[in-house]
Amino acid sequence: YFNSNTVLYLNGKFQKANNTTADIYGQSLHYGYAVFEGIRAYNTHNGTRVFKARQHFERLKRSAELVHMPFPWDVNDLIKQTYKLLEINNLKNAYIRPLVYCAPNMSLVAGTKTSIMICAWEWGAYLGHEQLKVCISSYERPNPKSTPMEAKVSGNYVNSILATTEAKSKGFDEALLLDMNQNIAEAPGANIFIEKNGRLYTPPKGHILPGITRATVIELCHILDIEIIEKHLTERDLKHADSAFFCGTATEIAGIASVDEYKFPLRWTDSLGATIQRTYKSLVLEKQNYEVII
Ligand code: PMP
Repeated sequence: YFNSNTVLYLNGKFQKANNTTADIYGQSLHYGYAVFEGIRAYNTHNGTRVFKARQHFERLKRSAELVHMPFPWDVNDLIKQTYKLLEINNLKNAYIRPLVYCAPNMSLVAGTKTSIMICAWEWGAYLGHEQLKVCISSYERPNPKSTPMEAKVSGNYVNSILATTEAKSKGFDEALLLDMNQNIAEAPGANIFIEKNGRLYTPPKGHILPGITRATVIELCHILDIEIIEKHLTERDLKHADSAFFCGTATEIAGIASVDEYKFPLRWTDSLGATIQRTYKSLVLEKQNYEVII
């Protein structure tokens, strides 16, 4: 992720990643009390473009607010600094990781002083290019009454790490988690869509991180005249579906080959997911007419 030349952004300054230290006595490290983002920049024919930069930094701000963390920064300035960071590190295609964390404080009262760090690195397809072998996790997503699920909070990712590690140890590529009501929720770091009889379905907001890519896919469905329905989905719905895919900033659009023993009958290339995948690629690369919805 970094080498001796890598520069990151910290509280208004650019500095060498190698020379950057983090506080040991802090709520962020000890309690997972931090919020973060995952953003991608693409080398488009209009130059390097950070895809949906505003939505990501606004979500970072909202995540901080939801867990009572001060966010004294201006979103426009953070976007400007992100472009500068890419330029300094000579990155054209990049994954960008902003993190907001707390000053030293070991209490359980929300910290009053926060830092913001932004780093970036080159990152290919997060889940590879093959269609994924997925299993239903033995872990459930956290209860939204325990933690605000629409906030991208570091501590929630312990649940994600457990689920992905379990899936990989069983020989699968990725996990799919149910929510506390046994409905389909999401992957450890991506949302899910399923296809049945020419329509797409996705779980509603409430027990998931409502992804920016998920919103983009819904927009693309409207443009492409694909019927998209947000509703609770059961494991049975999933295992009677024609096809399915994950979506997320890191994941982009990734086809799912199977869930547990169930193989989706529709060939990926014939699925609505494949159409969405192609269109998403055009959109992030600012090809053709898709610039209008960026
Ligand atoms: N769900 C979870 C749990 C995630 O970590 C992510 C990645 N941020 C997503 C969904 C997809 O969100 P986005 O499309 O905004 O990257």
